[in-house]
Amino acid sequence: MFEYQGSAAHPREYPVWDLPEIAIVGRSNAGKSSLLNCLAGRHDLARVSKTPGRTQRLHFFAERSASLAIVDLPGYGFARVSKPQRARLAVAVERYLRERTLLRGLLLILDVRRAPQEDEEMLAEFGASRGIGLVCVATKVDKLGHGERIRRLRDLERGALGRWLPFSAVSGEGREALAQAIVLLARGQMEKGGKV
Ligand code: GDP
Repeated sequence: MFEYQGSAAHPREYPVWDLPEIAIVGRSNAGKSSLLNCLAGRHDLARVSKTPGRTQRLHFFAERSASLAIVDLPGYGFARVSKPQRARLAVAVERYLRERTLLRGLLLILDVRRAPQEDEEMLAEFGASRGIGLVCVATKVDKLGHGERIRRLRDLERGALGRWLPFSAVSGEGREALAQAIVLLARGQMEKGGKV
């Protein structure tokens, strides 16, 4: 049972607890809110992160029965492009990823019809440099026919980020595997490319 614990833009606003945290990241429209709602078995859980004025904040959810927390990080992909051209994360996200000692894993969400970009690779590198686990999730798989699905997942798997977990918030496919992966991440038992 996920419980919303509040939002933060600065470390002094982070919850004070000892729950291992799993950060969920994805570009806008990737399907992050739908995935979070599906995991929680609710329709409104992630609505708060879309409230105007709150979209650039980090949102914390406790899952006390599993002794872990989920942190919904602001969507990226619209951050300003600087010179030289380079993907940038929001300052609040970068700071959280660098400094939060409770962070144990990253869930990277991508619309299965898109290809990972520099943003996704940069996030994966962040995780790797901190030695935390990474689970890549290809969502909206219900939108693809059988052949296209196989092709897309194979292409993703051949890319820099390795294995992707197929997921659909509409059909619920992948929900159990994802819930298990999150528990393993929280326990520090899921490394990049780990099997789910
Ligand atoms: P966010 O911006 O990453 O939080 O993305 P949302 O969860 O709001 O989803 C963006 C759009 O994709 C919405 O119109 C959702 O209804 C749709 N969507 C999200 N997940 C799925 C999915 O698994 N299957 C389908 N068919 N549509 C989805």
